[in-house]
Amino acid sequence: QEDLFKNVISHAKEYGYIFASSEIYDGLSAVYDYGQNGAELKKNIREYWWRSMVQLHQEIVGLDASILMHPETWKASGHVDAFNDPLIDNKDSKKRYRADVLVEDYAEKLNQKAQKEIDKAKKRFGDSFDEEQFVATNERVQRYLGERKAILERLGDSLTKEDLKDVKNLIEELGIADPETGSKNWTDVRQFNLMFGTKLGASSDTASNLYLRPETAQGIFVNFSNVQKTGRMKIPFGIAQTGKAFRNEIVARQFIFRMREFEQMEMQYFVRPGEELKWYEHWKEVRHKWHLSLGLGEENYRFHDHDKLAHYANAAADIEFNFPFGFKELEGIHSRTDFDLKAHEEHSGRKLRFYDPELKENYVPYVIETSIGLDRMFLAVLSASLKEEELEDGSSRTVLKLPAILAPYKAAVLPLVKKDGLPEVAQEIIEDLKWDFNVQYDEKDAIGRRYRRQDAAGTPLCITVDHDTLEDRTVTVRFRDTMEQKRVPISELSSVIDAEVNF
Ligand code: ATP
Repeated sequence: QEDLFKNVISHAKEYGYIFASSEIYDGLSAVYDYGQNGAELKKNIREYWWRSMVQLHQEIVGLDASILMHPETWKASGHVDAFNDPLIDNKDSKKRYRADVLVEDYAEKLNQKAQKEIDKAKKRFGDSFDEEQFVATNERVQRYLGERKAILERLGDSLTKEDLKDVKNLIEELGIADPETGSKNWTDVRQFNLMFGTKLGASSDTASNLYLRPETAQGIFVNFSNVQKTGRMKIPFGIAQTGKAFRNEIVARQFIFRMREFEQMEMQYFVRPGEELKWYEHWKEVRHKWHLSLGLGEENYRFHDHDKLAHYANAAADIEFNFPFGFKELEGIHSRTDFDLKAHEEHSGRKLRFYDPELKENYVPYVIETSIGLDRMFLAVLSASLKEEELEDGSSRTVLKLPAILAPYKAAVLPLVKKDGLPEVAQEIIEDLKWDFNVQYDEKDAIGRRYRRQDAAGTPLCITVDHDTLEDRTVTVRFRDTMEQKRVPISELSSVIDAEVNF
């Protein structure tokens, strides 16, 4: 699994998906740039989310709020007081870690141990293997899973000041060592605020302190009345937004999983008080289906229901994904009650209410939130798609089996040779297709090598122009996943691509 993660990172760079930020200056920790293919894939994920949330829901509309907001926003939301992570230092190595992540990683290792036993048994027993029964009866697996559960329960989901001591105790009791140096000499656990500060205005004495937004949600809450009134929205309705958020994360490793500058895709759904748990269940299901629709494998997802809740929530669950380093949060679904709108009412002195014509009543709506990190989704897509395949002739190929709807380029158009008028026909085809699809031209190297390059870059289709094309206006279409080839008239290319890359 560690190898898979390394492969994902190097593949992402080699094929122009992700580069370290300002790499020529040795990079900036936990900040990344998306290259020529990455920018396309990221845009396609964002668009896939946007279309399924906004275009397919009459009662959901979009918003594009700014990154900088009035500083009072963050007092009202609780971020100034409570947006902290528990930080711990190793006294020997002087390295700094997030205390809860150290414990979570330890628990995940127990999970992996259990999984290893299960996989071994699966191999041994073959088709007759009953996983549920095995887990229920195997003592070692039960011990690993039980220990893991007990640890996570003690850790809880949100840490108050009083909990910090307990986290320190957990780290000592479990004998967790500095992952880099092995030292177990820890400091106490302290709270660390994650917001990035900045200043508005030029002269230092009149400048006021601002924060870069740590989540996009608050831009939606402060615009609740603007959108509701001008859009004549009736409850239940939603506001969706994608955009950058910034967090001064303590643990900044795991590639684009945890970044200091990242992008969120959030939707706040405003409902009648008392109906929130029904909608919470509804959105959990809808979001789960959205993930499954991409075909990354049902077994790669699981729900984690929070027992201990953040100050604003009365129910919360994560959709976790099986990343190369184990199952981790990909998306959060939160029932945020009326906490945010009420807090903004108090801090702004403005009413943030809805007149419900059916109930003939004014109220502060309750909110269900779905919040997913675009970059984390990118990592999920990339790591689930990267495959090393053994072929029938004994050779192997690297193939990036991206969902076709998300692929940066839908097709590559390849003249078999660089002469005899084939490049010109290939260019003609591109001129025709480019209005509907992102397509790429490639004429360098032998055709087999070009196929492999497109496989590794994730392009679902290759279109090859050869000498027969000049006679009969047909081309060879090769499919990335099956490597099947078929002859298709140029006039039908558009519909062949469309069938492959759209739902
Ligand atoms: P974590 O526990 O992993 O720090 P969180 O619970 O703080 O995440 P939320 O505040 O619920 O995360 O944010 C919603 C989503 O935003 C997360 O599910 C995740 O996909 C994404 N996200 C949060 N922090 C980061 C980050 N530093 N880098 C990339 N994505 C992030």
